[in-house]
Amino acid sequence: MTFDGSYTQAWMRRFVASAVATEAELTAFDQQVGDGDFGANLRAGADAVGLALGALPVAETSAAAPLRAAGTAFLDEVGGTSGPLFGLILQELAEAVPGQELDCVGLANGAVAAVAAVQRVGGAEPGDKTLLDALAPAAQALARCPRGTAPDQALALAARAALEGVRTTRVLTARRGRASYLGSRSAGVPDPGAIGMALLFHSAQETVTALTPLLTATVSEPVSLTVPRTAV
Ligand code: ADP
Ligand code: MG
Repeated sequence: MTFDGSYTQAWMRRFVASAVATEAELTAFDQQVGDGDFGANLRAGADAVGLALGALPVAETSAAAPLRAAGTAFLDEVGGTSGPLFGLILQELAEAVPGQELDCVGLANGAVAAVAAVQRVGGAEPGDKTLLDALAPAAQALARCPRGTAPDQALALAARAALEGVRTTRVLTARRGRASYLGSRSAGVPDPGAIGMALLFHSAQETVTALTPLLTATVSEPVSLTVPRTAV
């Protein structure tokens, strides 16, 4: 199955839609453990990504191009701590996409590189109640997938791992970012950045899961177009 630019473009569009749909909830969480701008930051990123995708050449088929455009949009247009981190993560994913194909090996390499980049720039460790707590489990889930694992299966595991990671952030005390100023009072609220990260992997899973049955069915099971004869 070729996983080309139309998939990564659809992935980014789904991510944009999910960021827009959750802006109010993410704002509310960041109001409890931060300064309340995370929803708006992710929304600003979503708007910038939407514009960047619209500016891609129609003939662009590289799987990396939509991811790279999205990464640049976050890096250039979004403030806060999360904007540059989301930009970096998307750029690492784009760098790891081999040629025109995107398989679970490319995704795993990209996600593992993204973990390293986030740690290098922000200094967080897993368990510090940051977006790393969703990104790192997702990267691990992808890295454990044997070569040849179907992308929809690999992404289902990654999305579930990211969601589990978000759940763990609810009980954690923040040790990085603004939430750490609250000390133990940060416990009880999930980390908004981790939710945003889980949205990224869920968007990937939803995109591939929606498109895969259609494409594999048309390859392996010819659809009968015979119209039943009716008595005249
Ligand atoms: P700010 O705190 O500057 O307002 P945002 O509201 O844009 O930043 O983003 C907050 C999110 O950034 C947090 O929920 C957390 O997931 C993430 N974050 C904060 N510090 C770090 C860090 N050092 N490493 C990784 N992620 C971080
Ligand atoms: Mg904030």
